[in-house]
Amino acid sequence: MVTIKVEVPDIGDFQDVPVIEVLVKTGDTVKTETPLVTLESDKATMDVPSPVDGVVKSVAVKVGDKVSQGSHLLDVEADAGPAGVAPPEKIKESGHTTASGAPAADYGASGVYESIDVRVPDIGDFKDVPVIEVLVKTGDAVKAEDPLITLESDKATMDVPAPVAGKVAELKVKVGDKVSEGSLILSLSTGVVGAPAPAKAAPPAPRLAAPSAAAYAGSADIECEMLVLGAGPGGYSAAFRAADLGLKTVLVERYATLGGVCLNVGCIPSKALLHNAAVMDEVKQMGAHGISYAAPQIDLAKLRSFKDGVVKKLTGGLAGMAKARKVDVIRGVGRFLDPYHLQVELTSGAGRDRTGEKKTIRFQKAIIAAGSESVKLPFIPDDPRVVDSTGALTLPSIPKRMLVIGGGIIGLEMATVYSTLGTRIDVVEMLDGMMAGADRDLVKVWEKKNTSRFDNVMLKTKTVSAKATPKGIEIGFEGAKAPSMTQLYDLVLVAVGRSVNGNAIDAEKAGVAVTERGFIPVDKQMRTNVGHVFAIGDIVGQPMLAHKAVHEAHVAAEAAAGQKSFFDARQIPSVAYTDPEVAWAGLTEEQCKAQGIKYGKAVFPWAASGRAIANGRDEGFTKLLFDESNHRCIGGGIVGTHAGDLIGEVCLAVEMGCDPVDIGKTIHPHPTLSESVGMAAEVFEGVCTDLPPVKKK
Ligand SMILES: Cc1cc2nc3c(=O)[nH]c(=O)nc-3n(C[C@H](O)[C@H](O)[C@H](O)COP(=O)(O)OP(=O)(O)OC[C@H]3O[C@@H](n4cnc5c(N)ncnc54)[C@H](O)[C@@H]3O)c2cc1C
Repeated sequence: MVTIKVEVPDIGDFQDVPVIEVLVKTGDTVKTETPLVTLESDKATMDVPSPVDGVVKSVAVKVGDKVSQGSHLLDVEADAGPAGVAPPEKIKESGHTTASGAPAADYGASGVYESIDVRVPDIGDFKDVPVIEVLVKTGDAVKAEDPLITLESDKATMDVPAPVAGKVAELKVKVGDKVSEGSLILSLSTGVVGAPAPAKAAPPAPRLAAPSAAAYAGSADIECEMLVLGAGPGGYSAAFRAADLGLKTVLVERYATLGGVCLNVGCIPSKALLHNAAVMDEVKQMGAHGISYAAPQIDLAKLRSFKDGVVKKLTGGLAGMAKARKVDVIRGVGRFLDPYHLQVELTSGAGRDRTGEKKTIRFQKAIIAAGSESVKLPFIPDDPRVVDSTGALTLPSIPKRMLVIGGGIIGLEMATVYSTLGTRIDVVEMLDGMMAGADRDLVKVWEKKNTSRFDNVMLKTKTVSAKATPKGIEIGFEGAKAPSMTQLYDLVLVAVGRSVNGNAIDAEKAGVAVTERGFIPVDKQMRTNVGHVFAIGDIVGQPMLAHKAVHEAHVAAEAAAGQKSFFDARQIPSVAYTDPEVAWAGLTEEQCKAQGIKYGKAVFPWAASGRAIANGRDEGFTKLLFDESNHRCIGGGIVGTHAGDLIGEVCLAVEMGCDPVDIGKTIHPHPTLSESVGMAAEVFEGVCTDLPPVKKK
């Protein structure tokens, strides 16, 4: 055990900054980067993070104390030294630069600056392994576990991580050097008194059972610095960011248009249809306010062409932006030949028909963004009356009776569209509730408002057979709510999830490990087990959402370009664009309970919102969750019209670690639905004047 004295790091010109929150107490276990103390100057609020994993031994400050750079905050007792660290060598006392002139480490500076040699740890039987990437340069600040260099043997690619936080004082290797266990990689100035003694060097975490990569010896038609495979929201964002960072970028996509599932057959066309459905539903409601219209005349062809026009506008815009950035778009199906080559079978037409022509691309770095496809049920017949979400979005007809298999967001959004157009809907769901993942109190409000849309909601029930007959698709059910007889439907939508494309791109030839189900594991920089190959979006895992893919895309492109970007989001929001919309961000109550997090909850009912009442839609509510230990917002949920737009503020609150006073004292415009977020925070503080007084206990 060593005791690390944590002091205020370099905070620029600020002096005598008040401590506004002490986030830990003696005995607390902390991880590297856990915020310890919050300081607030007149310009900014900043957390001082822990430089190490350990246990808080003593706290030297309290709220209200004023501190400056170097002030002692607390002591953390850290485990025996991280692996691979040579004995600390004292370089300079009470100074601000190391012997080599590099600035002192940001954290943990104690007035005694030390440097450690970082060496190649135990890498098994490998000897003389080439360094294929040096991920840091002299002067870079690194955190414990940040990858420093990438080694590539004939069997595996592995990163050597930083054993502690510090600043790179001197690099001792370059790309192409061959290293073995014990080779000196770099010296790190730590700024930590008593930097950990050398423990037995542990091997770099074996990230994956890496497949043996193939070796392609042929020529290439195209050369690039960055190859992106797949042009969905993940792929095009990665390609555009890489190009903006100056990398010569090639984007490979098998379909004619960019944008992937999201723009072509997902988020965008579904919202174009949902918008029309919402207007139709609202117009119908106007009757209750004394304004009546005749029953709608639905011109299905025109509705389809409106939706197609929306998609065309957006995908056309992307093509223009690719051109403006000089991103070379190659149309075809890509498969890896080895870790540095991809073969593309060119495609043409509306689908992905092969032309017979092939192109080989040699790349220096790659980002895999090959996305996902709808899961198919094996017993479902191949019949035009059975569709997945892509088929349902083509609006083949307005069926009389439709079965939606799967009560998730995609199924329920499509059910909303079709029921508004006049279809009677049954839903079958294996779980005991719909919209899995959302807190039940939110879903209940949606259920109550939507009972009239559905003839049968069959929870805890499975579809077990399907037969195409001239009269319709005959479906058999099993389970809690299964009807006694088979049922006949004019259209069946299969919306039971998405499967990813990781096993269809010959990733193993590049040495990239893929799980049985096609997912590609990545680290926090979106790096696969192969140092120069990254993966993003649906293909790396849940939640399969476009905004997650885009965020990951930027991280991957920036990391590939040598920047220190990490995927460290505190929240990824989810929205069901149903009517009412259901949206949530950060932790749900169910997650808090499962993780044993003590939380406080505040709910503002829309029945007290002037705007919701004026809109005739006051069934919703806004809920905020706060961590009981520090009052920071850790999550929230909204059900009601425009909940998907409103949840953005909760996302920011979670990301910024806002407390209820930050949110409640932010002046929101009146009368808007957004006020409900501020008022929920006021409810938490017991200061909301738009609700009856809180009963004194
Ligand atoms: C009906 C529906 C509605 C949705 N609504 C929302 C929503 O409202 N909000 C939201 O956030 N998310 C929504 N999603 C999910 C969202 O569309 C996905 O999470 C997102 O598209 C994933 O982006 P991606 O870049 O990872 O992959 P994708 O969008 O799947 O893109 C992958 C691309 O790679 C291409 N490709 C794959 N293999 C190859 C290959 N070998 N060679 C060349 N090209 C290849 C594919 O053709 C595709 O264009 C919805 C999905 C569906 C189906």
